[in-house]
Amino acid sequence: MPLSSLSFEFFPPKGIRASLRLWEAVSELAPLGPDFVSVTFGAGGVQHGLTLDTVKAIKKHFNLVVAAHLTCCNATREETLEVAESYSAAGVREIVALRGDPPTGTGTFRPHPGGFEDSCALISALAELKKFSIRASAYPDPHPDATGPGADVEWLKRKVDAGATSAITQFFFEAESYFRFRDACDAARINVPIIPGILPIEDWTRMKRFARRCDAHVPAWLADAFETAVRDDRHDLLAISVCTELCSDLLDGGVENLHFYTLNKPNLTREVIRALRTAPTASLRYVA
Ligand code: FAD
Repeated sequence: MPLSSLSFEFFPPKGIRASLRLWEAVSELAPLGPDFVSVTFGAGGVQHGLTLDTVKAIKKHFNLVVAAHLTCCNATREETLEVAESYSAAGVREIVALRGDPPTGTGTFRPHPGGFEDSCALISALAELKKFSIRASAYPDPHPDATGPGADVEWLKRKVDAGATSAITQFFFEAESYFRFRDACDAARINVPIIPGILPIEDWTRMKRFARRCDAHVPAWLADAFETAVRDDRHDLLAISVCTELCSDLLDGGVENLHFYTLNKPNLTREVIRALRTAPTASLRYVA
C-alpha cells in the first residue's frame, strides 16, 4: 500500500534554544507535505498557553493544518472548554482530545472535582461545540489503566461513539501489535481511521525511560539490538532501519497513514520517510 498521508507531532518549546530546535524541525519536515501536524499539551494539564502559542506560530509561518492536543487533567470543565474556544479563535479545526495523566508523582488519574471525568466526557463536550474534528488516542499495546484484554478496544469504541472521527495510536515497535488491535477494532465495528503512531528512536536511554512511564512494550530483540548499536556507535543507522522496517510492514499490511512522534528532531523522521518513498513498493508523492 502506498504511503498516502503523513503527519508529525511536535511539542511546545520552553526556551529560546528549544524554540530554535522546534523551528528547525518544522522547517525540515514541512516540505514533506504532511496532511497535518499536531502540538502536544503540557503533561498534567500545565502550561497550555505554550501549546496555543506554538499552534498559532506554526499556522502563521508554515501554513500547515494544525491539530491542537487538549487534556482534561487538573482543570474544570469550563477551563478546558475555554482552551478549546481559544483554539477555535486561532483558527484550529482539529483537536486531539485526551484524558491526560496526573502531574508526575501523583499516581492514578482522579478527575478534577469540577472537571471532565474521562476522555469520553471531554470528546462528547467538544463534539457538541460542532467546531472541531476530533482525534482520539488508541493503544495497540495495553494502556496501564486497561482493566483487561479488549478494554482499550471497548474504550476506543466509546470514544468514537462520543464523537471522535479518527484515532492516533501510542507508539509500538512490532507491526503485529497494530494489526491485532486493528482487527479487534474492525470486529468491534470501529469504523474510523486508526493512524499508527511511529516513534523513531533518537535516544535509546530516553526512549526506555519514556516507554517505562507509559508501560509501552519494548521487545527483547529491540533492546538487544540497541544495546549493541549504542556500544558500537551505530545507533542512528539501526534507528533508521528498525523504524523503516516497521513502517514498511505497516504499509504492506494496508496502512495508508503514518503519524511520527518527532520529539522536535527532524533527522530520523526525514530519513525514514525518504527510505519509504524510494523503496520499490512505495508510490512516490515526493514534495521536497
Ligand atoms: P483514555 O483513552 O481515556 O484511557 C486510556 C485507557 O484507560 C483506555 O483505553 C481504557 O482501557 C482505560 N480507561 C480510561 N478511563 C476509563 C474509564 N472511565 N473506564 C474504563 N476504562 C478506562 N499526554 C499529555 O499529557 N499531553 C498530550 O498532548 C498527549 N498526547 C497524546 C497523544 C497520543 C496520540 C497518545 C496516544 C497519548 C498522548 N498523551 C498525551 C498521553 C495520554 O495522556 C496518556 O496515555 C493518558 O494516560 C491517557 O489519556 P487518554 O486520553 O489516551 O486515555
